[in-house]
Amino acid sequence: MKHREHNGFNKYPLRQELLQAIGSKGFIEPTPVQSEVLGHGTLTGDLIVRAKTGSGKTLAFLLPIFSDERMISRIPNVIIVSPTRELAMQISREALWLSGNLNCTCATLVGGMEISGQIRDLRRGSSLVIGTPGRILDHIRRGTLSTDSVHTVILDEGDHMLDMGFREELEGILDAARNREKTWLFSATMPDSVRKLSRRYLKNPELISLVNEGQQHSEISHTVYTVPRKRKLEGLVNVLLWENSSRALIFCHTRAETMQVAHRLVDEGFRAACLHGDMSQRERNQALSQFASGRVAYLVATNVAARGLDVPDVEHVLQFGLPSDTETFIHRSGRTGRAGKVGHNILLLNQFDAEKLRIMLRGTGIHITWLPVPDSSVIHDKQRSLFEQKIFSQKAKDNQQIKAWAADLIARADVLDLVSGLLSLSGNSLQTGYALQKELQRESDLRKNTNRASQISKTSERRRPRRQRGTAVRLGISNPAEWNTGRVLKTVCTSLKVSRQEVAEIVLKPDHIMVGLLPSALEKYHLYPENLSQAGLLQQKTTNRQPRGNKR
Ligand code: ADP
Ligand code: MG
Repeated sequence: MKHREHNGFNKYPLRQELLQAIGSKGFIEPTPVQSEVLGHGTLTGDLIVRAKTGSGKTLAFLLPIFSDERMISRIPNVIIVSPTRELAMQISREALWLSGNLNCTCATLVGGMEISGQIRDLRRGSSLVIGTPGRILDHIRRGTLSTDSVHTVILDEGDHMLDMGFREELEGILDAARNREKTWLFSATMPDSVRKLSRRYLKNPELISLVNEGQQHSEISHTVYTVPRKRKLEGLVNVLLWENSSRALIFCHTRAETMQVAHRLVDEGFRAACLHGDMSQRERNQALSQFASGRVAYLVATNVAARGLDVPDVEHVLQFGLPSDTETFIHRSGRTGRAGKVGHNILLLNQFDAEKLRIMLRGTGIHITWLPVPDSSVIHDKQRSLFEQKIFSQKAKDNQQIKAWAADLIARADVLDLVSGLLSLSGNSLQTGYALQKELQRESDLRKNTNRASQISKTSERRRPRRQRGTAVRLGISNPAEWNTGRVLKTVCTSLKVSRQEVAEIVLKPDHIMVGLLPSALEKYHLYPENLSQAGLLQQKTTNRQPRGNKR
């Protein structure tokens, strides 16, 4: 028998051609989401997979797809829908190397590209179709994409697609693919919109969840730098100098803001470019490839880039201003710390927005370091020491010509004069940023004085216990005497398939029970409410009130 190298993918029933492709790519172990999906067994039904960004979801769905014998046909079998053009093309690239040894063809249908080429690809026959919602639906309506034989539809980044307003397109695609056997929904978060869609289009979905709310990305550090209100751009310059990042993704709110920020950075001598939806597809691809190759160190983007893009080694994500919600915060920060690497998520906020963020993230367990923006004096010191490190690490010692020149200079001049002369030539150009500390202090004093009353209430709010209570659900019981907290806990855990840690508290009332469920358990409660009813805990109207009383 042929000797097989150790590869964690070998234990799954994958085609030899796929194992070869994975081996040549150098992947040795499946990521947790890949093990969960591949180890799931037959994978014949609907599926909801929750996993954080950068966890390897693409392969998790491509591998089972390519293992299906039907994939060699020339008619569309599988549709993968993805929120952005870049992400769709990224999935296509992944599909390409993975299926290199298979006789299987793929069409990429994204907006902003010539439709004629796409029609040609479809006519030639493609079993796998990858694209953005609008363009896929466009092809379905034109009759250029036939959905009769589509047996699988995969919605990648489902939450983001709904955020972006693609609900109608998604429904259009799902309605058109009426012969489908499987619908797989990948989503990092499960807001109501996603849940609604899944209730309508998925049948008894299996849930695979690798998301532990509040614990996302322990390998990402989060720092908030407060900046004076009207000096945000100067603050950004200071932070970039201080962090000395070789590759950072900077998020802005609007297209105009990305351009303003990118121009300012270029003026300040940084290698920066912008990425937003008003740019042509060619310009967007160019900006991305410059960023990926390192020619551009700072990519200033709108949320278009916030999802799915996999640019290796983004050291820093910088959020310029307050993210609109916790989910945006998490997805943006998910652009760094990919594939297990360490990453830094930095937010630049004025003090008012910093307070808003504090409130927004309360109870999520995300740990943030709060700091005033680095001031020019500390940046000066840091730049100086970086410059000195550069001098010391120069390999000039081995350069005989330079050494001879240096010896000659030392013989002819005073060493102090000599070094000073050299430093004023090269070291004088060090960037030291802007002096912002006084203004920040002034704003902070002003805020304290004018806002003392609300400050006091905020402080007392902060002292509240941080422990998560979960969301209260109200469960009816027919015979209260038969229930105690232990039995409720056991029943909830077994019916919903959750662990004890996911049940925050249980409060027994004369005629009903309040159970505090952490987000992961709440998810399952919404998916399988009937499991609880069967066990004697009847679903009643959910309240948003936090339960109080006998804490566990
Ligand atoms: P997600 O869709 O969950 O955000 P991706 O599928 O884009 O994540 O994967 C993130 C990165 O990890 C990609 O560069 C991918 O090539 C790499 N990757 C995926 N699976 C593995 C693996 N088993 N071993 C090593 N790297 C992997
Ligand atoms: Mg992805």
